[in-house]
Amino acid sequence: MQRPLPQTTLANPESISRIPCLQPSAKTESRSPHALYIHIPFCFHKCHYCDFYSIVDDSPAGDRQEVFTDRLITELRLRAGQMSLRPLTIFIGGGTPTLLRPALWTRLLACLADLGIPDNVREWTVEANPETVTPELMGLLAAGGVNRVSLGAQSFQPELLKTLERWHDPANVARAAAMVRDAGIRNYNLDLIFAIPGQTLETLKADIDAALALEPTHISCYGLTYEPNTAMTKRLELGQFKPMPEETERAMYELVLDKLAAAGFEQYEVSNFGRRAAWRGETPATLTHDESGDTLGGELGAGPAYRCRHNLVYWTNGNWLGVGPSAASHVDGYRWKNQAHLGKYLDSKAEPPIVDLEHLPAERRTGELLMLRLRLRRGAPEAWLRANLGSEDPRWKTIDYLREIGMLEWGEGHLRLTRKGLFVADAVIRELL
Ligand code: SF4
Repeated sequence: MQRPLPQTTLANPESISRIPCLQPSAKTESRSPHALYIHIPFCFHKCHYCDFYSIVDDSPAGDRQEVFTDRLITELRLRAGQMSLRPLTIFIGGGTPTLLRPALWTRLLACLADLGIPDNVREWTVEANPETVTPELMGLLAAGGVNRVSLGAQSFQPELLKTLERWHDPANVARAAAMVRDAGIRNYNLDLIFAIPGQTLETLKADIDAALALEPTHISCYGLTYEPNTAMTKRLELGQFKPMPEETERAMYELVLDKLAAAGFEQYEVSNFGRRAAWRGETPATLTHDESGDTLGGELGAGPAYRCRHNLVYWTNGNWLGVGPSAASHVDGYRWKNQAHLGKYLDSKAEPPIVDLEHLPAERRTGELLMLRLRLRRGAPEAWLRANLGSEDPRWKTIDYLREIGMLEWGEGHLRLTRKGLFVADAVIRELL
């Protein structure tokens, strides 16, 4: 999934004409983006905490899956005509990609293969809701080249799933994981949420144990956030429940860190944990996108754990292309987003409507990269910091102060969050923006 951006619109042809990599003449000199994101917007129900663009397709016009798939294929063909498209990672997210019918998946996979898009791919992830995973679909995905699945478990407690209005039977997570493995996909992630109203340290411990029992290679574990305009936030405002007390939320995060470390997971980002490669003697896929010159030296290289390489492209400010309604892109310092509107996406014939086009000035790129790098446990390389923050930059004083109070430290040639700093990561990072 990709985080939503606020939308501002510029006339579409004007936007497109400003993006160098989308010009017909650009293809011969272009390098491929490191990553491709494909957005499938359909869900069978809207979870109350969710602020991603997804729709429950109950349109009176009927099912739009087929027309959507055709439109997506048109966009993929358009982009493959404009730029070299041989990414190292593909991530198909949503929405609920596994809601797409197998016949339409067959069409989409055939288009990707026909365009040669998976030729260099080392990691190809599809997001899945446990209720919609079937052996047929997993077999189809594995045969098409998908080698990683991300399953939304969130919790194994029925009453907590009810609070989130998340519609799946916890028992189906284990069934879905078995179907993923039976299809030959050994690399899979489980998403968990903590700080859900009504959750206790005991039920969180039970959730982590249930997740570990399924032997995922990766766990994403986020504290519940109340995003604007979600049903969860409205219910909070109506007083239907109270947010988790801060000290309980901290104790929960501490439990997550300790239990996953003890189970052999490497925390490589504030909320993301990869199984160490020594586990069963397996070796995770390795890849590198150093050639961009903007990724600070091989974060994606041969890693000791099953990190999500696709997300590392985002977190190291690599280049990625997004297709599908609401997908965001970032190529060579240009950032834009397809408009989050399925109807407008379907109505468009060639270029989809684009919003939020920006060319990031160097200063902002540095600030954003610093923010992203500090969320990674490895931190921001000292050499990069010294090269990009001038000696008079006021952030050096802030860094000194945050070190003095024990939130940041130097280690292994990087500036990184301390364990104490991890618990207030957002606040520490805000100080440096
Ligand atoms: S399944 Fe995922 S994308 Fe769909 S509503 Fe729930 S959280 Fe959002």
